[in-house]
Amino acid sequence: MNVKRDVPPHGCPLMLAFLEDERVPIHYYAPERQYAITVFNGPPDGEGPHPIQLLFYCPWCGAKLPMELGDQWHEDLGALLGEDFLLLLDVEGAIPAAYESDEWWQGRFDWDGNQLAAG
Ligand SMILES: [Zn+2]
Repeated sequence: MNVKRDVPPHGCPLMLAFLEDERVPIHYYAPERQYAITVFNGPPDGEGPHPIQLLFYCPWCGAKLPMELGDQWHEDLGALLGEDFLLLLDVEGAIPAAYESDEWWQGRFDWDGNQLAAG
């Protein structure tokens, strides 16, 4: 995976600093362009999914964050691999590499999540 492609689209100095700090439960997930906070009343580590709260604005500078692309990610992979593709997520190599990073959406969607015109 090309690390440089996974640079968060909103990266004010405080956001970048806190994303790097493991004590702060804020995350950027490049494949779905999501900023989220882990909610800590979830199950202990390894005992189930940890609920998250998506972020729509930067908590430090107030800037609007880019629209997350989770629906589009699911739509694309469903079209490519069939509607049961979620069963393949743990199968190595089953998901196209572009969909494990931000490569699939770079240049395709604007800040508000609208698809850009081709060409
Ligand atoms: Zn910010």
